[in-house]
Amino acid sequence: RQKLLNEQRREALNSIIDIKGNIRVFCRVRPFLSRNRRKNINPISTSLDKVVVKLSGGAKEFEFDKLFQQESSQEDIFTEVEPILSSALDGHNVCVLAYGQTGTGKTHTMDGALDKPGIVPRALEKLFSHASRDKSSSVTFSMSMLEVYMGNLRDLLAPKPICRMHETSARCNLNIQTDPKGLVEIEGLLEVQIPNLGKAKWWYNKGRRSRSTSWTNVNETSSRSHCLTRISIVRKWDLDAKTESSKLWMVDLGGSERLLKTGAIGQTLDEGRAINLSLSALGDVIAALRRKRGHVPYRNSKLTQILKDSLCDGSKVLMLAHVSPCEEDVAETVCSLSFAKRARAVESIRDIPEDLKKLREKKLAELEKHMKEAEEES
Ligand code: ADP
Ligand code: MG
Repeated sequence: RQKLLNEQRREALNSIIDIKGNIRVFCRVRPFLSRNRRKNINPISTSLDKVVVKLSGGAKEFEFDKLFQQESSQEDIFTEVEPILSSALDGHNVCVLAYGQTGTGKTHTMDGALDKPGIVPRALEKLFSHASRDKSSSVTFSMSMLEVYMGNLRDLLAPKPICRMHETSARCNLNIQTDPKGLVEIEGLLEVQIPNLGKAKWWYNKGRRSRSTSWTNVNETSSRSHCLTRISIVRKWDLDAKTESSKLWMVDLGGSERLLKTGAIGQTLDEGRAINLSLSALGDVIAALRRKRGHVPYRNSKLTQILKDSLCDGSKVLMLAHVSPCEEDVAETVCSLSFAKRARAVESIRDIPEDLKKLREKKLAELEKHMKEAEEES
């Protein structure tokens, strides 16, 4: 009976995600910070799930699957992210990606602060609480964390080398392999078992510290590297001992600002180029997936190679585009919004005829009710 209920819940969840789409794009507008001047000038206005940017040549509109305005909380965000995490427990590969210009709140959304935890710490809590309630299967989790900087992969959980000279060989320059089944394997990347929430948070904090103290010779590098956290999930069903595995990637992407235009030189210029290349490769992959046919260009960056088996048909992708409310950032804001727009599903909610939209909403409500019932009963 338990298994049946689980199946029902899973089916309902899958249908919900099918209706909402496998690739979803949210936008979060950062609040003004105390250091921001001219708070009275706000080039951005928001309504429902739309962002309107006022420009000298007129206004530009961008619509999202969900919009989080300045005052939205970490809970608000997590409420929308949670169903996608549940599908990772149900055997789907999932990618949650935070995109945006440096300073727009990507790390705030993903990591958060102690009193305002972000998606990763909340996801860890949810995974363990779901797993402990599951009576028909046993679920185990393991974690890896890595940083991608100028095309190099660095393990954030591996122990520090005794001598800095070994840094390059021990933890850097990891290779990416794809096995015959198409599964991605990062050679030598440490994968730690996380038997409980306490251990999970301990490892996660270790990885975070390792990111911020790395590359000490370069200023502010963390904004020019991608930080990826992977939770591998293995679920074993009690009834028939069948196993199912999936991956949940949570990615704090490097800043999307166009350094080429800001007169960057030398190292900064190279870093900017590397980030811009990998972000546009990511955009290309998502756009190809969205079209659902033809060649998906994974090979153009390390980032897309790493995420290949989780950015494909059957996986769930959530892009969280972050923008600043400030007037001086408006050019970057338009770029970020345009990037996110490109990643959105072909069929925008607005293009669907009204009666179909109503039908869809009704079906969604039914499914959500059904899922809740199955959950409560189990
Ligand atoms: P990014 O990672 O995109 O460079 P950060 O997450 O570091 O940006 O955010 C920049 C600053 O703005 C930080 O001081 C952060 O605490 C603050 N901040 C970002 N988003 C929010 C938010 N939604 N509410 C309050 N403060 C925020
Ligand atoms: Mg950051």
